[in-house]
Amino acid sequence: MRPRGDRQQRDGKEGVHVLWAPWRMQYIEEGNTRDCIFCSPATQEALRSQLILYVSPHARVMLNKYPYNNGHLLIAPRRHTARLADLSADEYNDLMELLRRAVAVLDVALRPQGMNVGLNLGTCAGAGITDHLHWHVVPRWTGDTNFMPVISAVKVMPQHLLESYDQLRPLFLASAEARSEGLHRK
Ligand SMILES: [Zn+2]
Repeated sequence: MRPRGDRQQRDGKEGVHVLWAPWRMQYIEEGNTRDCIFCSPATQEALRSQLILYVSPHARVMLNKYPYNNGHLLIAPRRHTARLADLSADEYNDLMELLRRAVAVLDVALRPQGMNVGLNLGTCAGAGITDHLHWHVVPRWTGDTNFMPVISAVKVMPQHLLESYDQLRPLFLASAEARSEGLHRK
């Protein structure tokens, strides 16, 4: 966005130019979507670098860059909203379908003994990003809470995340293909 020169100059003379930040207004008008990890453009080239595993008509699934466990996924609606009630039936159904598929993919790929699936609404409920709804899917193994902190430094290494990405991405594509062919209806 081009700064408005006259306003900038005038404010500059008054010594308050630091308060005139027109890009902030755009940021506010956009609902803070520009810096939102769930709103970043999901172009073909950006998918792997941004750990976006799959994009459905109304939702996306990605690996958490700061995982609690191996294979920690985040599933979010494509529309930037913090309110569950804002989702249309189509959006909600598509999101739930992707959530179900994410659980199935993790089951096949990582063979966890259990999973935590959840939604944190608001900071006090533990949400790290409060203005864009997202569900967590965390694979669990018996005893993982005991040894996970020890290897936490390993977990967040980008290479490790990309290896997980390369393992999971084909499974999401395959499950989407199976779905479109109606194979999921057993
Ligand atoms: Zn967003």
